[in-house]
Order: sequence, then structure tokens, then C-alpha cells
Amino acid sequence: MKEQLFKSLYLAGCDVRLGEKLSQYTTIRIGGPAKAVVFPQTVSAFIDSLNILKEAGESYKILGGGSNVVPPPEFNGIVVSTRFLTGYETVDNRVTAECGITMRRLLRILVAEELSGLEFLSGLPGSLGGALFMNAGAFGGEIGSFVEEVTVLDDNLNLKILRADEIEFSYRYSSLQKYVILKAVLRLRHAPKEKIRKEMERILRRRLEKQPLDLPSAGSTFKRPREDFYVGTTIDALGLKGLRIGGAEISTKHAGFIINRGNATQEDVKMLIEKIQGLVFSAYGVKLEPEVKLWKGGSYV
Ligand SMILES: Cc1cc2nc3c(=O)[nH]c(=O)nc-3n(C[C@H](O)[C@H](O)[C@H](O)COP(=O)(O)OP(=O)(O)OC[C@H]3O[C@@H](n4cnc5c(N)ncnc54)[C@H](O)[C@@H]3O)c2cc1C
Repeated sequence: MKEQLFKSLYLAGCDVRLGEKLSQYTTIRIGGPAKAVVFPQTVSAFIDSLNILKEAGESYKILGGGSNVVPPPEFNGIVVSTRFLTGYETVDNRVTAECGITMRRLLRILVAEELSGLEFLSGLPGSLGGALFMNAGAFGGEIGSFVEEVTVLDDNLNLKILRADEIEFSYRYSSLQKYVILKAVLRLRHAPKEKIRKEMERILRRRLEKQPLDLPSAGSTFKRPREDFYVGTTIDALGLKGLRIGGAEISTKHAGFIINRGNATQEDVKMLIEKIQGLVFSAYGVKLEPEVKLWKGGSYV
């Protein structure tokens, strides 16, 4: 990164780390060095940093909690992390929160404020921005149902406030994917603290029973192709649990997850994904679409 660019980002209120390995920022612990990882300390520094990068003609990617991405061995671009954008406020039954707040922290705040609705996301890793981008869901609920409005930047980095009726949410998709998400207002309902806490604990226990939470992964590898097609069960029925390519392995606990056995690369994950896709297609005629995002080497603006 050129010194002038580094200085501009720094003066705009960002920490900048050159050549950082992305593996330390992803839950699957995969990813080689990026040109730089930029950490805006405020939302206005976030906006400024993107303008600076755009003007400099630098390609970049936004990174939230890194729980749904698998970066390559070398990322020839800049990563802008939202991890310090964690402000929030609650007013009556609404919470307004910045994109980088972790879902874990947000849920703890909701318990304290006696606001109910998002209990089903208990245990979801990652940030609010990532959850909105993916329309994260679990146990029959989706975050999109609780959105009142979202503040975003469009392609030209113009600020926009989108009301819920201007946003499309569907299974693991939101039309917010064409924007940079800055902050959101979620509408919840009042409920007793103890009731919310108990429900969150129940959901957490269910996750613990089913998912390999003690090993690095990026969550469910594939989207469910249709309501009645359970990907994990299908992969299990094909006898693929434990199948390994390089350091990537189909979890023996939940066949819908690929875990990193220590030295997995993006290529290992990609090959394992293709292997599963091929076998599932041969057996069931169903094409599985990855839910995890395999980042390319660079060239994102
Ligand atoms: C153990 C485990 C369990 C999981 N369980 C679930 C589950 O039950 N349900 C579910 O839906 N998912 C689940 N996931 C997947 C993942 O946690 C979710 O998709 C999560 O919402 C991603 O958030 P993140 O902040 O980590 O996003 P990241 O992985 O950082 O990014 C995901 C995508 O969002 C984009 N993005 C992130 N923030 C912004 C922003 N502010 N503006 C614009 N783009 C942005 C990134 O560029 C990237 O394309 C699980 C993952 C793991 C590891």
C-alpha cells in the first residue's frame, strides 16, 4: 500500500495493518495475507475510508465477523473490517445498532433491555451487518422479519435509508447485498428477561448438540435447495461424514459443516464442496449451492 494511502486512511480514523493474514479474522481459520486490513473506528471513518479507497482505485471487501467467508491464500485487495463499529441504542421496543456489533453482544443487550424476538439467533457467530447481508436464520426464524430500516451506502457510496418495505429478504438472501450496510433499526417486543434468557439457553443447547462448535468452520456449507431437502442428512446418508481433502473435513458431528482440521486451504474446501456437489447430484439430481463465500484473489471495488 502506498504511503499516501496509508496516511489518508489513518488520518480518516482507521487503523491499518499491512499484509495481515485473514485466517485470524475468519472462524474457519483460513485465509492468507491481504494487501491491508483497515479498521475504521467510527461509522464516519468507515464511510471516509471507502471513499478514499474508491478514489485511489483500490479494490476492497467488507469483513464482518468472518463467519461465512473462506478467503484465498493471497488476497490481492484491501479488507475493511467492521469490528469496531459497535455502537447501539435502545428506545422503547427498538434497537438501533451499528453493523459491526456481534450478534452475541446484541443478544445480551436485548436480554438486559427485556426485548424479545431474536432468541432463535442465540449462538449465531458474526456481526449484525453480516447477519443482515445473509438474512441469517435458524430454527424457523430470520433476522429480516425484525428489520424496520437499514442505513446503507450504495454503489456510488451515497448514503441511503431503506425502509423494511424497500428491502427484499428471502432464504439466506437479502437485497442489502448490493450495499454497504452501516446500521439498522430492529423492532422487537417487550418480554420478561428471564423468559428471553431461558429461550436463548434452549436454542444454544440445541446448537451445541448438533453443531461442531468446538472446531473451526464457516457454518453450513450449502444452502438448503428446497424446504424438504436436508443437506446434512443427505450428505450423511451418502456415508460422507469424515471425508477429508487436505485439511478440510466433512464434520463427523454435522455433515452440513466443513471443518478445518488445522492446515486447510480455500482450495481444499473448494474441492470438498465440488466432491459433495457431484455425489449429491449423481444420487439425487439436486444441485447444491454453497452458502459459504469463497473469496476470489482480489479485484473487488
Ligand atoms: C458455527 C457456525 C454456525 C452458524 N450458524 C448459522 C445459522 O444458524 N444461521 C445462519 O444464517 N448462518 C449461520 N452461520 C453463518 C454465519 O455466521 C452467518 O452468515 C453470519 O450472519 C455472517 O456474519 P459475519 O459478520 O460473520 O459475516 P462475514 O462472514 O464477515 O461476511 C459475510 C458476507 O457479508 C458481507 N458483509 C459483512 N458485513 C457487511 C456490511 N456491514 N456491509 C456489507 N457487506 C457486509 C461480507 O462482505 C461477506 O460477503 C454459522 C456460522 C458458523 C461458523
